[in-house]
Amino acid sequence: ATPTSIMVGTGKSAESGILFKGGEHLERTHQLDTIILDKTGTVTKGKPEVTDFTGDEETLKLLASAEKGSEHPLAEAIVAYATEKSIALTDATSFTAVPGQGINAVISDNQILVGSRKLLTENGVEIAQSEEEMIKYETDGKTAMLIAVNGEYRGIVSVADTIKETAVEAISQLKEQGLEVIMLTGDNERTAQAIAKQVGIDQVIAQVLPEEKADKVKEVQLLGKKVAMVGDGVNDAPALATADIGIAIGTGTEVAIEAADVTILGGELLLIPKAIKISKATIKNIR
Ligand code: ADP
Ligand code: MG
Repeated sequence: ATPTSIMVGTGKSAESGILFKGGEHLERTHQLDTIILDKTGTVTKGKPEVTDFTGDEETLKLLASAEKGSEHPLAEAIVAYATEKSIALTDATSFTAVPGQGINAVISDNQILVGSRKLLTENGVEIAQSEEEMIKYETDGKTAMLIAVNGEYRGIVSVADTIKETAVEAISQLKEQGLEVIMLTGDNERTAQAIAKQVGIDQVIAQVLPEEKADKVKEVQLLGKKVAMVGDGVNDAPALATADIGIAIGTGTEVAIEAADVTILGGELLLIPKAIKISKATIKNIR
């Protein structure tokens, strides 16, 4: 590998908004055969909005007051929704985030649970009556969360995120380049499949806990694959470090950018097939 051609390649990448941390990463990029994309903030814009809420006003007040303690994009959407409706929020007496599952908070002597089926079931809440409605939202690609107050089911809050405009085109280009494309998410299987279908991804690994994301990358590597992981969140950092090439979304968290080998400015997904193209051209010139 001539240092000059690598320098030309990284320079050309940088001009396009593809920031490699070193020439060796650009060299390695041409070997990739698999690309794993995080869903929220990577395939989607990561700015979810509440689309449906089935509870009463008191439940909304407790729900949003509880979510005020969370920094999750889902929580921000719920707080914004309540604020828009001029609901006054209260401070929580206690607050616990259950990673990949939801939250558990106490607000004025009421215990509030918001999150997945697993979170509510494990806390003894009877949720059978919500199932039909949950399936309806999830089939639409929405993230539906269950709400319980003092151990009783109170309703569903559904949140939807917008798919990035260029996601379909970027994924189609990656497939044309011969890459296998997989989506990885903590969200439930049905929602994940619906989003994947909209962007042309046919392999989905869903309901993955934050600490399991890196293990999933390793599993694919053990099949003999050269894997790129693309992500934006704090949760994605270990997976970005584990992958053969970690690609951070420029609009994402600092932690993700630090863990990655390359950052794509503005989170523009079309820069990924472009990086692969530049890497291949660079290697060709070398040989
Ligand atoms: P992703 O990988 O898509 O970023 P997460 O692992 O962060 O997803 O979250 C997975 C699931 O956990 C969500 O779909 C939701 O059901 C639940 N969850 C996470 N955080 C919250 C929260 N603040 N409030 C309610 N539910 C939550
Ligand atoms: Mg994300």
